[in-house]
Amino acid sequence: MAVKQTAGRDSLGDFAPEFARLNDDVLFGEVWNREDQLSLRDRSLVTVVSLMSQGLVDSSFRYHLTTARQNGITRREIAEILTHAAFYAGWPKAWAAFRMAKEVWAEDAADDSGRAEHQKEMVFPIGAPNDGFARYFTGRSYLQPLSTSQVGVYNVTFEPGCRNNWHIHHASSGGGQLLLCVAGRGWYQEWGQEARELHPGDVVNIPPEVKHWHGAARDSWFSHLALEVPGADCSNEWLEPVSDQTYGLLD
Ligand code: MN
Repeated sequence: MAVKQTAGRDSLGDFAPEFARLNDDVLFGEVWNREDQLSLRDRSLVTVVSLMSQGLVDSSFRYHLTTARQNGITRREIAEILTHAAFYAGWPKAWAAFRMAKEVWAEDAADDSGRAEHQKEMVFPIGAPNDGFARYFTGRSYLQPLSTSQVGVYNVTFEPGCRNNWHIHHASSGGGQLLLCVAGRGWYQEWGQEARELHPGDVVNIPPEVKHWHGAARDSWFSHLALEVPGADCSNEWLEPVSDQTYGLLD
């Protein structure tokens, strides 16, 4: 999913339209989006260290720390990154950066216990951070492959508030996706339809070519097994994130 940035035009569109264009369209629109050259996670790492080196701990630094967390940099990793950079950039700069990083990653200690509680409700493992698909998710998810032959079966776990982008499972015949809900509480929604609340034991049949999303409730972890229904010419098309407005309507 492409990185989209409007901060330049929002803040400086009238005052400095060319700077706003370079910020939104070139820096974020082009450079940040060259994921075939360098991952978003690595770009976040470079950016955070660059800003820290200059002693910048303003709102832009907070933005990039938050983005780094969304791009998969863990609490343990950011601590190691800033510690390493401290020797090259300066000790007081690391102190300043740590104060902000501690706030941005604050929830993650709570997350660890939340995740452990969620695991107790479920026989399938939560698995590893879903880094490969992180760019198609809002919030953090985890992936555990259960079967990779005959029929692909994956346990997908969403942290509270996490959901995947709108997407379509394409196929010329057969295809689509089957969800078996195993723990927590979540949502499934097809484009133009009411969202359906999901609980353990629920089954969702997703036909091919239907635009939809699935994910956790705001206040609950959620896991479903995702089965790839065999078909011809199967592919996934990832679309825009589910907006806070759409998701915000759900309790
Ligand atoms: Mn799906």
